[in-house]
Amino acid sequence: MTDAIKFETQGVVGVITIDNPPANALNFETKKGISDCVRICMDDDAYKAVVITGAGRMFVAGADISEFGTKTPDGVPELEDIIDSIELSPKPIVAAINGLALGGGMELAMGCHYRLAAPTVTVGQPEVNLGFIPGGGGTQRLPRLIGVELALEMIVTGKPIDATKAHEAGAIDEIVEGDLVARAVEFAEQMANSHAEPRRTRELNDKVTNINPKIFDDWRKKIATKSRNMKSPFECINTIEASTTMDFIDGLANERKVFVYLRDSNEAKAMRHMFFAEREVAKIPDIPKGTAIQEIKKAAIIGSGTMGGGIAMNFANAGIPVVVVDVAKDALDAGLEKVKNNYAGSVKRGRLTQEKMDQCVGLISGTTDYANLTDVDIVIEAVFEDMELKKKIFSELDSVCKPEAILASNTSTLDINEIAKATGRPDKVCGTHFFSPANIMKLLENVRTEKSSKETVATIMGLAKRIRKTGVLVGVGDGFVGNRMLHISARIAEFMVEEGALPQQVDKVIYDFGFPMGPFAMNDLAGVDVRFLIRQEQKKLYGDRRQSVIIDRVYETGRYGQKTNAGWYDYEVGSRKGEASQLIEKLIIKTSAELGYERRKFSDEEILETYLYSMINTGAKVLEEGLAIRSSDIDVIWHYGYGFPRYWGGPMFYADLIGLPKVYDKVCELNKKYGDWVAPSKLLKTLADEGNKFKDYIPS
Ligand code: NAD
Repeated sequence: MTDAIKFETQGVVGVITIDNPPANALNFETKKGISDCVRICMDDDAYKAVVITGAGRMFVAGADISEFGTKTPDGVPELEDIIDSIELSPKPIVAAINGLALGGGMELAMGCHYRLAAPTVTVGQPEVNLGFIPGGGGTQRLPRLIGVELALEMIVTGKPIDATKAHEAGAIDEIVEGDLVARAVEFAEQMANSHAEPRRTRELNDKVTNINPKIFDDWRKKIATKSRNMKSPFECINTIEASTTMDFIDGLANERKVFVYLRDSNEAKAMRHMFFAEREVAKIPDIPKGTAIQEIKKAAIIGSGTMGGGIAMNFANAGIPVVVVDVAKDALDAGLEKVKNNYAGSVKRGRLTQEKMDQCVGLISGTTDYANLTDVDIVIEAVFEDMELKKKIFSELDSVCKPEAILASNTSTLDINEIAKATGRPDKVCGTHFFSPANIMKLLENVRTEKSSKETVATIMGLAKRIRKTGVLVGVGDGFVGNRMLHISARIAEFMVEEGALPQQVDKVIYDFGFPMGPFAMNDLAGVDVRFLIRQEQKKLYGDRRQSVIIDRVYETGRYGQKTNAGWYDYEVGSRKGEASQLIEKLIIKTSAELGYERRKFSDEEILETYLYSMINTGAKVLEEGLAIRSSDIDVIWHYGYGFPRYWGGPMFYADLIGLPKVYDKVCELNKKYGDWVAPSKLLKTLADEGNKFKDYIPS
C-alpha cells in the first residue's frame, strides 16, 4: 500500500483517504492505491460500504498533469476505469468531499453513488483551462446530475461552483456542518442496510433527455470570438451535447476519444506550458524561498496620472493604505477623482459593492507634500518619463523616507541603475513596471537593478502576489522585456505598411492569430504621441538604423489615437471601435512614394511571420543578455502584458513548436530586409544549430 492513500475500517465501512499533499492530485500512485482499496472492500464481505475522502484541505484538485505524456506503469489502472468500477460496485460508495474537488477529483466524486460535502467546498471541471476536456466521464455525468445548462457553464468556462450551488443543482446530496467523514460513514451504512441498488449517475437520464439542441448552438455563438482558434471549449460543448444524443457508454467512449486527441494537441501543450510557467516565475535562482522580505504596511505613489491612480487602486484593493503625491493640488484632486469614478463604475456594473468601494477609497489619501512620506514602506514613482525629474524625485525621497523604505520606479524605458545613483540606498531601488490600465492588467515586470538587494527583490516579488499581480523579474534594459520586444515588432509592422501593407490588414492578421488587437490598434489605444516621444528617445540609441517615417507623418496630423478620436483609425466620438481611415491610407501611399518604395502585396502569412519572428528574435536577445531569467518568463510577460494567446503558449514556446531552425532562417531573411532591428540572436542560432529549444536553455 502507498503512503498517499490511507485505509481504515469503521464498522462495516471501508474509509479510503487520499493523502497526497499539497493537492491530493491523482497521480499513478494514488490511482493505484484507490483502486487497490476499492478492490479490498469489494472482495471482503466484512465491508458493506465505502467512503472516499481527502486529507487536509483538498478532496482532489485534479489529475497530476506533470504525468501527462508519460506512459502509465504496468498495474496502474486509468482513472476512468477506477471510476467505472466504483460506479458499478454493488456496495454503496459515498464521496465525502472535504475540500476542493476539481477535474479528475470531481469526476471521481461523480462516479461515487452519493456525495456529501463540507459547506466550504468548491467543485468544478476546469480542464478547458489546460486545453482539453474532462476525460473521466465529466462531460457525461455532470449534465446528468445538474442539467445541461449549468454543466455547459461549468465545463466550457472552467469556472467552479460553491457547495450551496452544487447542492441546489443536484451535484451534492447533503451538506454536512459537523464531522463530514463520520456522517458519510453513517450515511454509507444506512444505504448498505437499506439493500437498495446503489444510485448510479450513468442511469440518471432525466436531465439529458429531450434537450433542445439550440442551447448548444447558442453556447457556440457565445464563445465564438473569445475562443477563436481554440478547439477545447467547442469540444466541451460537443461532448456535453453527446450526453443528450448518445447513450452513456457511447458518450463516454466519444469523450475519451476527444480527450486523448486534445490532450496531445499543441493547444493543450501550450496551455500546460503556461500553467507551469506561471508557477515558475516566482523562482529566482539566487534568491531562495524564505529569503527575508520587508513588511509593506503603507505605500506611496508619486504622480496621480494615468498610471499613478491605477497603481494606488491595487494597494487599496489589497487593504494596504496608500498615499498619492502630486505636484499641484488640482492635478492631485483630478487624479483622485478619477480613481473614485473608476470604483464607482465598478459598483454601477455590479462588480463591486458600495461597501468595498468605500473601504478602498478610505485607504487612499492624497498630499502635495513629500514630508508626509516619512512612514511609508515602499514608494512607487509614476511621474513623467523624464530622467532628470525622476532623479530629482528619488533624491528627495531618499532624504524624507525612512532608511529601509523601498524606492521603486514605474518607468517604461529609463535606466533605473542611473536613477538609483540619485539616492544613498541603491540596494533599495528597483523598478515595478505596471501595465496600463494598472488596476486591471495582471502583469508586473519587477526590475532588478545592478545594486538591488535580494531582500528588495524578494519583497517586490511578494508584493506582486499580495496585490494579485503576476510578478516577473526582469533586468534593466531599454523597454525591459515586454516593450523591448513589442517596440521592435511594431516598428517592423510600420515598415511593412511603408512598403505595401495597410494597418487594418496587419491588425487583422494579428487579431486572427489570437491577440486582442494588432499593433496599430494598440498604438491608437496607448497614444500615437506617446510612441512618437519614445521614438525620439530611441533615436539616440538606434539612430543609425532604419526609422519609421510613417509614424512621424501620422503624429504630424495631430491624430494621436483614441483620445483624439483619430489615429491610425477613425473613431466615432465615444467609440473604441476604429474604422479604416481613407486619410491615413492616402498618407501611407504618399509616404511610400516619398520613401521611394513601390508598394507591393504582403500575404497574411508574411505579415504574421515577420511580426512574430522579429518578436521571437528580440526575445532570444533578451534571454542571452540575461534580462529575463528563463524563456517561459517571457511567455508569461507576453500573455499577461499583451494578450499573447494562451493556446500558443507565448512567443518563445511558439518558436519551440515551430522549430528553431525554421525561425532562425526566417530571421536571417528579415535581417536582410530590415537591418539591425532583426540582427539574428546568437542564442537563437546556437539553439537552432544544436537542435535545442528555448525551453531547454538554462543561462550559465
Ligand atoms: P501621466 O502624465 O498621466 O502622469 C504623470 C503625473 O505625474 C501627473 O499627474 C503629474 O502632475 C505628476 N507629476 C509630475 N511631476 C511630479 C512631481 N515632481 N511630484 C509628483 N507628481 C508629479 O503619466 P503616466 O502615463 O501615468 O506615466 C507615468 C510613468 O509610468 C512614466 O514613467 C511612464 O513611462 C510609465 N508608464 C506609463 C504607462 C502608460 O501606458 N501610460 C505604462 C507603463 C509605464
